Amino acid sequence: MMQERSDLVDEARRIGPELRALRRRLHAHPETGLELPITQATLRAELEPLGLELSYGEGLTSIVAVLRGGAPGPTLLLRSDMDGLPVAEATELEYHSTNGAMHACGHDLHMSALIGAARLLAARREELVGDVVFMFQPGEEGHQGALLMLDEGVLEAAGAKPSRAYALHVFSDMPYGLFTSRAGALMAAIDKLDITVNGAGGHGGTPHRTIDPIPIAAEIVLAMQSYVARKLDTFDPAVVTIGEFHSGTARNIVPGDAFLSAGVRTFDVKMQEKLRTELPVLADGIASAHGASATTLYEIGEPLTANAPQAVADAERVISGLLGPERFSEISRPVMMAEDFSFVLEAVPGAMIFLGAAPPDADLGLAPSNHSAQALFDDGVVPDAAAVLAALALEYLAESRDEG
Ligand SMILES: [Zn+2]
Ligand SMILES: [Zn+2]
Repeated sequence: MMQERSDLVDEARRIGPELRALRRRLHAHPETGLELPITQATLRAELEPLGLELSYGEGLTSIVAVLRGGAPGPTLLLRSDMDGLPVAEATELEYHSTNGAMHACGHDLHMSALIGAARLLAARREELVGDVVFMFQPGEEGHQGALLMLDEGVLEAAGAKPSRAYALHVFSDMPYGLFTSRAGALMAAIDKLDITVNGAGGHGGTPHRTIDPIPIAAEIVLAMQSYVARKLDTFDPAVVTIGEFHSGTARNIVPGDAFLSAGVRTFDVKMQEKLRTELPVLADGIASAHGASATTLYEIGEPLTANAPQAVADAERVISGLLGPERFSEISRPVMMAEDFSFVLEAVPGAMIFLGAAPPDADLGLAPSNHSAQALFDDGVVPDAAAVLAALALEYLAESRDEG
């Protein structure tokens, strides 16, 4: 079966220069959040000639494209995220972004790979026994775009609900061209904890007549790290990262309040519940010890990304058959990053597959990670990524025909 698929790799590599050029255009014009009009228009121009059923989001600039196969069968969903990050790019790439945002998580590569897969599959539509849904999703980076697209009906787009879903994610510090995944838990659940320390502002020269929220907030930051280290079982992993700390306007003013925002990452519902209950108590206890108060807002966010074992086994077989067994390896441990594709995987069995995209000459120990202003993703991996996505769809639909 896979022998016949080698033409997919050949064709993907033949259109590779176009896919890489598309990735670079997307890279030069990143947009963040749920409204990505330039990105949507760029993808729309790529999709319109392919003869797919296209529809567009209302609450976000998503695109859903349905490819109808030559015969009826099951439905498979392939997803790419579309958004960049609020990071000012600090690479020296000639196509680097200059608008203050950056495709620092490689979603530009995901988009060009999925466009490549759409082209490969559209050219083989007669072979397809069933339908393929292409899900282009804004707002992956903390905006829950996937959840919005589920609300807007992405799973009903083809008529029948998909019975398999895949997404790829590239990493700037993983080996070039290596696909990895694992059955079960792959990525963490992430919740959000916002804390406002309410003090009392005043003159910088008379701090005793104020309640200075900055040292209190600093204590809360440190206490949360001690809490994770001393109160949680090491074998039940959790990470609390305070990614925002805002306060103050001038050096001679004690501000009235300080704001912290933390990401709380877990793999276990009981652990998640413990942190949800205890972290606000910790913050409030420290604030009240200093005569201040803390207002906390805890929001449950993206759930654990859990891969269906069969979907991972199929991916390993397809990738090994298509590109060689050395191109897939199972990763032994999950990662602490989170993904809103987890919402799709709650509804549809499937898998998130990682793809290493570090430049081949990079020192992996030093390569800047995803979300870094210096992250470098080598788009040489895009053609093979497109071939893999297309092969996953062709194989899944062909198998269900064999079974039927
Ligand atoms: Zn990211
Ligand atoms: Zn990402």
